[in-house]
Amino acid sequence: MKVYLAKEVGFCFGVKRAINMTRQALAEHDDVYILGDVVHNRTVTSELEARGLQKVNELEDVRGGTMVIRAHGLPSARIQEAHDRGLRIVDATCPIVTQAQEAALELERRGCQVVIIGDKNHAEIKGVIGNLKNPALVVDSVEELHEAHLDKRLLRKVGVIFQTTHSFELCSSIVNELILMAKEVQVINTICRPVRNRQMDAVELAEKVDIMIVVGSRSSANTIELKHLCQKYNPRTIHVENADELDMAQFASVEQVGIASGLSTPPDTVEGVRRRLMVWDQDRARAGAALAEA
Ligand code: SF4
Repeated sequence: MKVYLAKEVGFCFGVKRAINMTRQALAEHDDVYILGDVVHNRTVTSELEARGLQKVNELEDVRGGTMVIRAHGLPSARIQEAHDRGLRIVDATCPIVTQAQEAALELERRGCQVVIIGDKNHAEIKGVIGNLKNPALVVDSVEELHEAHLDKRLLRKVGVIFQTTHSFELCSSIVNELILMAKEVQVINTICRPVRNRQMDAVELAEKVDIMIVVGSRSSANTIELKHLCQKYNPRTIHVENADELDMAQFASVEQVGIASGLSTPPDTVEGVRRRLMVWDQDRARAGAALAEA
């Protein structure tokens, strides 16, 4: 059995940067807080919590000390609020997320009704919406766009951005529909390039192997997105969080396996999956050889 790794696996630069900034804050200060998880991955959050990171759900729960802003970002009013409360801020917002926030503001300045293609419950989208003066429309499918019943006034001039981790295929299908509905559509492509590269690379791999494995947390939006994308090109795509979830019976008559990962999946977790497959295959080959000899 041959096992192929996608060209890039493990953390993207934005996640790496956020983890390193958090580690540094923990090394330098005593009371370090974060609103939500630094990344959607239990291995990483456990490691940082063991070093002293305190997770809170509300800014009001932070009494003093240092607050880390995670890679997904926060609305600027919330950051100002944290400053006003006397907190030391470590801003680990990914620069690509900052660009998406600025793109939405730019479209609003141009007089557009801002439409965001993304998940309205995702922290990144909440951060983008929170910076705008007027309500934005957030949709995640063509059906949601139709259900929104945008009135004619709003459809005169529409400005679109995308959740940074969304797939180009999904975003372009919704933009195509918007073009049919609105008089003018301005689009700023805010899809993150590392995400796009990984998606294209994973699709290429999924097409050539018998089974495709996507490694990453079930709470990671980009991992779920990657799984759905690979499933389109290879129905035998499976999603695992780590090597312990592999069901080896699935690989019994498989010759080629591909492995891709979400952007918040630690490289060791991906390597664990690869190693488990290789060891299982070697054991199987040895057992087969012994049987043939007997
Ligand atoms: S996926 Fe892209 S936008 Fe998100 S943290 Fe990584 S580099 Fe930044």
